[in-house]
Amino acid sequence: MKEPFFLQRYQKVERNELPAKYRISRSIPVTFEKTASLDELWYTHRLKIQDYRKLLTSIDTDGHNSYPIITNSSLIDLKIAILEKIIEKCHFCERRCYVNRKRDQKGYCRIGAISRYASEFLHTGEEPELVPSHTIFFTGCVFSCVYCQNWDIATHPQKGMIADPAELAKLIEKRHKQGARNVNFVTPTPHPHTVIKIINNLSVNIPVIWNSNMYHSKEIAELLEGVVDVYLADLRYGNDCCAKKYSKVDEYMKVVTENLTHAYSNAEILLRHLVLPGHLDCCTKPAVEWVATHIPHVRFNLMFQYTPHHLAYKYPEINKPLARQEMEKAIEIVLSSGLEDVLV
Ligand code: SF4
Repeated sequence: MKEPFFLQRYQKVERNELPAKYRISRSIPVTFEKTASLDELWYTHRLKIQDYRKLLTSIDTDGHNSYPIITNSSLIDLKIAILEKIIEKCHFCERRCYVNRKRDQKGYCRIGAISRYASEFLHTGEEPELVPSHTIFFTGCVFSCVYCQNWDIATHPQKGMIADPAELAKLIEKRHKQGARNVNFVTPTPHPHTVIKIINNLSVNIPVIWNSNMYHSKEIAELLEGVVDVYLADLRYGNDCCAKKYSKVDEYMKVVTENLTHAYSNAEILLRHLVLPGHLDCCTKPAVEWVATHIPHVRFNLMFQYTPHHLAYKYPEINKPLARQEMEKAIEIVLSSGLEDVLV
C-alpha cells in the first residue's frame, strides 16, 4: 500500500509516537464557572486555545512533553460547557434552527439532546490507511440527500442505541485493543456535544476522525480545534444549485469551503469526492479545482461508489450508475489538477 504523505501526524498518533489532539487539550488547565454566560465561556476558550496551540507546536516541533499530563478541569471541559449552552439555542450546524434541544424542541434534524447510534464496529471498507477503523454511526442527519444509501438511519434519528459517553469510551478502548487504528465518528454534525463527552472519557491515545458533510456551524468549527485529528470530509458538489436540489441545503459552497479552510488550518484532511452521474462539469470539476487551489495538501479520494438509493428514482438524471467514460473523465480532471496525494 502506498503511504499517504499528507497524513503524517495521524500516522504518528496511530503509532503512539505523538499524542492525539484531544490529549493535548485535556492537559490545558482551565477554570471557569459553569454558570458563566456563553460570551464569557467563549472569551476563556479564545484565550486558552492559544495555550493549546503553543503546546501542540512544542510537542510536534521539539518533541517535548510527548505525553502531556491530563488535568481535572481542562480545555475539553470548557468546550463541553460551551456545547451545553449552544444546544439550548441549537446552532451546531448552519441550518441554525435556534431550538432548545434540551427541552425537546426539534429543529430540521429532529434530534433531541440525547444522541443515538445505529452501529459500531471495526470497519474494513474505509480508505486503506484508516482500516480497521472503529466506526460509530450516529443516527439522524442535517442533510436530506435524495440518493442517501443510509437513509434508514439518517431519516429515523429516534432509532438506535443511546450514545452514553462513558460506555462508548469503553467500547472505543476495547476496539483499540482489537486493532482499531482510529475512532471514526460518522455523521457527527448534530452530535458534537456527545462526541466530545465520549472523547473526554477516553484513556487511550487514538486518532479522532470527524467523518462529516462539513456543514457544521463556524462555532463548532472553532470548538473542534484541539479535538479532531483528521477530517474525513465530503466535498460532494461544486455549486449551490445541485446541493439544494439533491441535499436540500442552502449556501453549500460558502459553508463547506469555509469549514474546509478552517479545518485545513488546524488538522489533517482526507477529502472525499463522490462523483455523481452527469455532474462532472458542474460538480466534480469545480470541486477539484477549489481543493487544488485552496487546500492542496490533502489526501484526496475520488469515489465511484455512487448507487441510486432512497428517492433517487424521482430524479431520472441521477437514477443510474456512473458510466465508465465518466469515471475516466473524473480521473483525468483530478490527475491534471496538480493534487499530489490522490487515491483513485
Ligand atoms: S443540529 Fe442543525 S438541524 Fe439540528 S437542530 Fe441544530 S441547527 Fe437545527
